[in-house]
This record gives sequence, C-alpha cells and structure tokens, in this order.
Amino acid sequence: MNYLLNTYARFDVAFVKGENATLWDKEGNEYIDFTSGIGVVSVGHSNVRLANAICDQANRIIHISNLFRIPPQEKLAEMLIVRSPMEEGGVFFCNSGAEANETALKIARKYGEVNGEIKRYKVITLENSFHGRTISTLKATGQPKFHQYFGPFPDGFEYAKNIKDIYNRIDDKTIAVMIELIQGEGGVNPFDKEEIQELEKELRKRDILLIVDEVQTGIYRTGEFLASNLYEITPDIITLAKGLGGGVPIGAVLTNLTDVLKPGDHGSTFGGNYLSTRVGIEVLYILDDYYKSSQLKETIEYFEAKLLEVAREFPDKFDSVSGIGLMRALRAHSSEIRDEVVKRAFENKVLVLKAGSNSVRFLPPLTITYKEIDEGFDRLKDALKDDS
Ligand SMILES: *Cc1c(COP(=O)(O)O)cnc(C)c1O
Repeated sequence: MNYLLNTYARFDVAFVKGENATLWDKEGNEYIDFTSGIGVVSVGHSNVRLANAICDQANRIIHISNLFRIPPQEKLAEMLIVRSPMEEGGVFFCNSGAEANETALKIARKYGEVNGEIKRYKVITLENSFHGRTISTLKATGQPKFHQYFGPFPDGFEYAKNIKDIYNRIDDKTIAVMIELIQGEGGVNPFDKEEIQELEKELRKRDILLIVDEVQTGIYRTGEFLASNLYEITPDIITLAKGLGGGVPIGAVLTNLTDVLKPGDHGSTFGGNYLSTRVGIEVLYILDDYYKSSQLKETIEYFEAKLLEVAREFPDKFDSVSGIGLMRALRAHSSEIRDEVVKRAFENKVLVLKAGSNSVRFLPPLTITYKEIDEGFDRLKDALKDDS
C-alpha cells in the first residue's frame, strides 16, 4: 500500500473471491458481507447473470464515446424513467454519485439563469446530508467537518436544520432544494413522508426545483425502485449511482426538465458507455425479478426482524433500529460503542459499516439469502457478547 495515498482507514484484509453476500480472503477465511461495497453490489458478488452480461458486452464493444448513438444507453434511460415516478423525462449518464449531483446542480443553475427576470442560483441542502466529494458537492454536503481545508467553495449553498427550516431559508434567489429522503452517510435518518409531500407541493408552487439525491436510496434499496416511489413524490431531478451498476461505475440523472441542457452544456467521456449501461440493464432485470416475486419484501422483513432482535438483546449498546428496506442501522448509545461494535464484528467475520456519529449501518446485497442473514447475525451477536 506504500504507493497509495493515505485517504482511507482500511481494514487489513484483501478479499479474493465473493459469492452473493459471502467473501473469502486469501487464507480462505469466510466473511458475511452486510456492506455490499457501500450499497453498490446490489445483486451480490459474482452474480452469474451480471458476469455473463459483462463478458458478452466486453466481447462486442465496451466504449465508443457519446459522439455516436449507444443503444443500451437509450434502453437503460427508458427503463429508469418508466420505473421512476416521472411520467416522462430524460436521463444523463455519468460515472459516480458526486458527478450525478454535479449534473443536477448544473441543470438547476441553468434553469435558474434562463427562467425569470433575475438569476436564481441558490441551492438549499440539509445539515447532516452527504452529496459527494467534488468541490461543489462537498459544499452541498451539510457537514462542516468535510469543509475544512478545501475552500474557497462555489457560492450559493445554504443549509437548513430540518425540512421545516427549508421554508425559512428560501428567498428570491433560491432555485432548488436538494435532499436525500433517507440520509445515509449522515446516520440512516428517514424523513417523514407527509413532510416531504408537503415540501414537494410548496416548492412546486414557488417554481423551486426539488432535487432528490437517491445515490444510496435508489435501485430497490428501500424495497421500492426509488425512495421517491415509496414517498409518492415526483422530484424535478433524481440522481442515482451506487446500486445501479452492481459494482461497475455508473451514475445517472433523471429529470423532467428535458430541454434545459443543450449540446455543449455538459458531458462525460465515459458516461453511459456500452459496458456500464448494459450492466445497468441487467441489474434492473435481476432486481425486477426479485421485486415482482416478493422475494425482496420477504428478505427485508426477515432482516428487519433480526435487527430488532439484536436491539432487544443488547439494550446496553443500542437505543433503536432505524432505516427502511435494506438500508438500516442500529443506533448505538455512543460513537465509542459504535466503533467497538464495528471492530468486533470484523474480528468475528461479519462486515458492517459506520454512519453518522453513532450508527452501525447495514447495506447488504439485495439478493442476500436467509442463510447468509442468519450466519451474519449469529456472528454479530457473538461479537456483542464477548464483553470483557
Ligand atoms: C455515496 C453517496 C454520494 C457520492 O457518491 P460517489 O459515487 O462516491 O461520488 C452522494 N450522495 C449520496 C446520498 C451518497 O450516499
């Protein structure tokens, strides 16, 4: 690791093989994966259907640039819009969540420039949010600890304490509100459905755009295709990434504002290439089957019951269970307890994530089996019992 920049606090393990929610290191140690690469490996490790699609596409054509038509890109765009709450709309493809959010901000800024007498450019985001690591998505991220060192930032961002506080921040320069429906990195905090529906209505009345960052909540993570489907809202812009490519980098921006960006306004060299969009199509087919057969719903219920059991059995460590679908957390009494739980879980060969100040986060592959869930929770409970 000597030649890598020191940007991550890594566990000292390298996995050589994975199968669904199970991983092996080179010594043959087996781990249960409740992280899915931070919500990315939505269809599990070494998914056969996905692997076949990747091989097949790689044998035909991987990349040709957006100077030419790309049929799987056109098809994936249609599949995303049809499954989303948008009746019609268009899609821009990129390579990551941050890049999708950058695109959303550019669409909002241009919309604010060309509509109305004065330029509207301000974007309101929430405290505790997470929108990415580029300079402007970092600025959009309402967590001051990320802002140290990297200024000056682009202007025009403001943070609201909660959904209600958004109304206090709106002025005649406000063009958009950007939120997650369930804050992920911020600690797995779902917002109230009625409050969000009210916000949607208010913003529409004032011609202010609603951007929903579904980079983590999208692609069936909550049990519905998008959290926006679950909340029954139709945002003006939705951003996606993590689970869409099953591990192959891809980001996407869905919007009903189809005539804002014109040729030359925006672009991406890799975005939407043959490989990543063919992969996206296959991921959606795989997960559509899971959804339609109720397998996903049953897995969610099973996983939830196990989490509630842990919270009940270890009241000395946890207050509560939070989250929706397979985006979940155990809220620990303190960050010290949380850090200890994550470390011990790893030592007991079950992988979990941190989020917020005191949450142990669970983002398993959506295809995780009951057997893997049982095994993972047995190991987690053992780890929690080892108290000295
Ligand atoms: C992970 C995440 C991002 C950033 O995605 P990258 O692909 O790492 O750029 C943005 N928003 C949310 C809600 C995320 O969870």
